[in-house]
Amino acid sequence: MINPFIRTTVIGSYPFPSWLEFASQHFDHFGTADLAELQEDAVIAAIHDQVSAGLDVITDGEQSRFDFNLSFYGYLEGIRQETASPRKWGPPAHDQRGKHEIIGELRAPRGLGAVAEFERLKRLAPAGPILKASVPGPYTLSGRLIPNAGYKDRYAVTEALLPIVRKELEDLVKAGCTELSVDEPSMSCYAYREDTKRFVDIFNRTVAPVVGKCRLSVHLCFGNYKGHAVGKRRLAPMFPDFLDFKVNEMHVEMANREFAEIDMIARIAEKMNVAVGIVDVKSYYIETVEDIVERIKLCLKYVPAEKLSVAPDCGLSQTARWAAKQKLANMVEGARKMRERL
Ligand SMILES: [Zn+2]
Repeated sequence: MINPFIRTTVIGSYPFPSWLEFASQHFDHFGTADLAELQEDAVIAAIHDQVSAGLDVITDGEQSRFDFNLSFYGYLEGIRQETASPRKWGPPAHDQRGKHEIIGELRAPRGLGAVAEFERLKRLAPAGPILKASVPGPYTLSGRLIPNAGYKDRYAVTEALLPIVRKELEDLVKAGCTELSVDEPSMSCYAYREDTKRFVDIFNRTVAPVVGKCRLSVHLCFGNYKGHAVGKRRLAPMFPDFLDFKVNEMHVEMANREFAEIDMIARIAEKMNVAVGIVDVKSYYIETVEDIVERIKLCLKYVPAEKLSVAPDCGLSQTARWAAKQKLANMVEGARKMRERL
């Protein structure tokens, strides 16, 4: 699948408006119709910001995944929400995030909610931009579930989630989704210590029914919970095995790593399109249009323009909205300038 030259895209999430954050602390004060309205208004805001920036590809900003009950875990049967955080104080990081206990068979009879999100996005988005849906892959999703006697380790939990995610992907394609991202940041974070061939096998079995039926991408970053990375931030351990992912596009984080291992994108481009994170979602330095032009020039040393997409390093959910807006606007403007020069 061929891109328009230097396609501008995003990873799924976008910052929540402040009023949504506030409201999410007081959901018991809202009725079901009020909540539906809140979600819809938040998606309208996220669409507005992305369309104003001029992106080729937009998402719903994952605006409705703001609460346990509305997140993927809320759709899973056989788990009990664990709210106790192992570390309550000190610097914000991933080790403050609670895990959920498995208490029965893992099932998702209602799906994972992504189809309803996509239907809402289709209804609210203007004509023009491509609409992308993002779903976490089973290995990433398994990270917050505690293995037990029935599911003995993280891989057993992953295997139980795999058909659930696969069904969601199939249902998204049936709903008319033409661009799908499977987010597996846990695979990139832990490639340095895990069996990468096993990751590839898990990934390819997850996406098997939708391969060739949509533009499929994988998002691989090094973590962004509360704006922090986890794992060893190196691409080298992922390759060459990850080149066997059955996807049309691979997204890798570059900006926050100051473009370390940038030559790796040439290897990816031999097999598929490459989406490069050229905007740092963790830094409040706002990349200027000229910075963007320079960064795209660097990418073009390794990847032809028709195979290159540019994006932020990760979803923007951990970046303040004012900064996210400016970063996206400058990214799109920089890409536009480069397209003109080509
Ligand atoms: Zn990410």
